[in-house]
Amino acid sequence: CADVAMYQAKELGRNNYQFFTSGMTERAQESLEMENKLRKALDNQELLLHYQPQVDMASGAIIGMEALLRWQHPVMGLVSPGKFIPLAEETGLILPIGKWVLQEACRQAVLWQQAGYPAWTMAVNISAKQFWQADLVDTIGQALEESGFDSGLLELEITESAIMQDAEKAIDTMLRIRERGIKLAIDDFGTGYSSLSCLRRFPLSKLKIDRSFTNDILDGEDRGAIAEGIMALARTLKLDVIAEGIEKAEQMEFLLAKGCTEGQGFHLGRPMPAEGLADYYLQKVSLTSCANVVSQSAW
Ligand code: C2E
Ligand code: MG
Ligand code: MG
Ligand code: MG
Repeated sequence: CADVAMYQAKELGRNNYQFFTSGMTERAQESLEMENKLRKALDNQELLLHYQPQVDMASGAIIGMEALLRWQHPVMGLVSPGKFIPLAEETGLILPIGKWVLQEACRQAVLWQQAGYPAWTMAVNISAKQFWQADLVDTIGQALEESGFDSGLLELEITESAIMQDAEKAIDTMLRIRERGIKLAIDDFGTGYSSLSCLRRFPLSKLKIDRSFTNDILDGEDRGAIAEGIMALARTLKLDVIAEGIEKAEQMEFLLAKGCTEGQGFHLGRPMPAEGLADYYLQKVSLTSCANVVSQSAW
């Protein structure tokens, strides 16, 4: 990209060359400033987690939560992960940040249990860079020990592209994770390039149907054929399956009819701060048949 810009600038003459160079410097400067801000974000306690419910669509019950990282900057406001995770990956800042996410998500899960909520799974996103760290399993173990969270309720979400970088080594790491009882899900499934023969050998627990395929149920030409294909694949491989990005009741109905019972999406619940859970939960249980049982146990 830079080469093309230079080439065009040279074509246009010296002054333009100057112009393009300063433009590029500006961008480099901006990215450096962003990096410096992100570097301070952890210490300044500007990072926080939102939680999105994962729901059993047949009964309406919450079965888990996914922790989603947010950056609340004093000037920039709430920054979404799409805007800073790539930078965090590039700079290696994802390592201390990812460690914090694991600790914080486990801590919150235990707080909810202590408050009387059911034993939900806590799903945590693990970036490729984190996945390939030699001390990953220790870092996870430490978060579990410090919080007292049950390893059987922790689920790590990794991407196809992360584990396909070196399938043999990935299997080794994944086995060490599974040995501790921790679950492993593939996030955004169907968007990467995992070979089916590799997939069979990965010690996985779950596939997460990417939200583009959930979207296709109503808006795509294939009318949900890919989502259905992933469900069939999950059945063959004896894996759980969850659909993400469910925004409409009709998508949910399609998925349920085809045998996918777990779902996540704005239609079922938006990501929310931990403090928002009580309201969401009360509203939810008043809509489901288990309302009586739940109200006796928690408060
Ligand atoms: P993801 O793990 O696939 O998470 C799902 C994303 O889809 C979230 O975006 C969520 O807010 C959004 N979403 C949920 N339901 C719906 C829906 O019905 N419609 C639409 N349009 N979107 C929906 P978010 O929170 O902006 O996160 C984006 C991505 O950033 C995540 O995708 C994940 O890859 C990454 N990420 C988030 N938190 C972390 C983290 O703690 N560590 C790492 N390494 N990556 C993270
Ligand atoms: Mg995820
Ligand atoms: Mg996803
Ligand atoms: Mg995604």
